[in-house]
Amino acid sequence: MVNKAYQFRLYPTKEQEQLLAKTFGCVRFVYNKMLEERIQIYEKFKDDKEALKKQTFPTPAKYKKEFPWLKEVDSLALANAQLNLQKAFQNVFSGRAGFPKFKNRKAKQSYTTNVVNGNIQLSDGYIKLPKLKWVKFKQHREIPAHHIIKACTITKTKTGKYYVSILTEYEHQPVSKEIQTVVGLDFSMNTLYVDSEGKRANYPRFYRQALEKLAKEQRILSRRKKGSNRWHKQRLKVAKLHEKIANQRKDFLHKESHQLAKLYDCVVIEDLNMKGMSQVLNFGKSVHDNGWGMFTTFLQYKLEEQGKKLIKIDKWFPSSKTCSCCGQVKESLSLSERTFRCECGFESDRDVNAAINIKHEGMKRFAIA
Ligand SMILES: [Zn+2]
Repeated sequence: MVNKAYQFRLYPTKEQEQLLAKTFGCVRFVYNKMLEERIQIYEKFKDDKEALKKQTFPTPAKYKKEFPWLKEVDSLALANAQLNLQKAFQNVFSGRAGFPKFKNRKAKQSYTTNVVNGNIQLSDGYIKLPKLKWVKFKQHREIPAHHIIKACTITKTKTGKYYVSILTEYEHQPVSKEIQTVVGLDFSMNTLYVDSEGKRANYPRFYRQALEKLAKEQRILSRRKKGSNRWHKQRLKVAKLHEKIANQRKDFLHKESHQLAKLYDCVVIEDLNMKGMSQVLNFGKSVHDNGWGMFTTFLQYKLEEQGKKLIKIDKWFPSSKTCSCCGQVKESLSLSERTFRCECGFESDRDVNAAINIKHEGMKRFAIA
């Protein structure tokens, strides 16, 4: 079974907006209540592991007696809040995440609900959701008939737009395609990637302009008095730009990954741990913003859908320092050297040389002739 999510814009009525606001609030309330109780239980039994194991943790059902207004909202949304908290604690114990935090009003306005007995349906520009009934939405693409809807996540953005992300599941057994065309990609901070054929993915000009505009508007925001009317107005402007840029980036990443998955049977990339990398190299936020992680996710499912392959090679492979012609590895190569020159006479753009090495390494490891 394969999962795929589809996101659409929602257009709730005023009454539906009120119920949505209430649901976001109840989910947050229940989450915080359960977190509070869990913390108390841990505090009480932290020195007695055996007793701790026997404790039962709070459930939303328990609060419904005490706070009857919780019954007015989708109970599946509350159940998912419980699951999210459970997951958060599992991540704490496995060392993958820090201790869960309480959600305040500024937290993401969102909840997830599940399909049970036809409670969620799509029909002619409307989606039926628990408690909300039929909500208008813009379905700009069809969900294939063989996809089974599993869950919906409803989100309100900072600028007041509503979205529904519909998670589907479907059976998929693609016939493995014989690999004939292979390409290697070298991650690039500025242009997303450079490929082994010498092509650079370039963010469209309007996207780069929007980024410049964002930087400018953020500077204006930082000069405004926090909490003032003008500050609020500017903050909304910045949030709108953020959303616009995120959408533009996503479109671009979809297009780029679609092209590659169409052109090649196999794509080789370096398995960069972006989080680690941004910390080590102190690139800060820009690496995340670059969208490499999202891009590789898109690329992977687009290739797999067609029985094609994404190969990730580990990140310590010396792709930049190796000569893609003779295989000699250089002792050092400074970041400022944009052209790769080898004693064997080979000369190439530094990133293209790296991309060719990545391609070769992937082919070698996976024995592709
Ligand atoms: Zn060489």
